[in-house]
Amino acid sequence: MSESKKTARPMCERCARPVSHCLCAHISVVPNRISVLVLQHPDEQKHPLNTARLAVLGLEQAELWVGEHFPQLEEKLATVDAAFLLFPAKEHNVMQPLVAIDATKAALLIVPDGTWRNARKIIQSNPLLSSLPHLSLPEGEPSLYRVRKATEVAAVATIEAIVRTLTVLEPESDFQPLLKPFNVLVEQQIEAMGAEVYARNYGRRGS
Ligand SMILES: [Zn+2]
Repeated sequence: MSESKKTARPMCERCARPVSHCLCAHISVVPNRISVLVLQHPDEQKHPLNTARLAVLGLEQAELWVGEHFPQLEEKLATVDAAFLLFPAKEHNVMQPLVAIDATKAALLIVPDGTWRNARKIIQSNPLLSSLPHLSLPEGEPSLYRVRKATEVAAVATIEAIVRTLTVLEPESDFQPLLKPFNVLVEQQIEAMGAEVYARNYGRRGS
């Protein structure tokens, strides 16, 4: 058994953060009309900055599926009137203009979560996704995501991408509270980095 600090740290089962840095107190559940389905690549699951999980916890209607191939997708799509994929379109895909969605329709926003490479893998492994209208991320404020390399889709955190998109699709709702735990997470990460830099510069003196 490894006795490294990482495995020994007690984790919060809900937000998947160390208990000492649990974000649950900052999560409030925001009602959403357009349900969200995050398809998360397994590589993201254990990532300390797993913001998709925070988004799903903070929305009334949201699900997170982890994997690469999702055979249950067909059944899920059959339950809604319209579904959209949050991913830039290739030439042959339909790019849907991002406008508010008819309130009478049961709509589903599907969000692949992972690096560009892994998000593409998910789309390739689930041909149904390519047949859906694609949405590209609406422009917004620069990302707060200063602590992670910008290799993710559209170089913003998944939670920011979801907030921006839902804000356009459901203009009558306020999704900003969803970002609260994310903002705290970013602060925590910067703090942790500061401590590491401090340890590197001063901690080994005399060793
Ligand atoms: Zn927690």
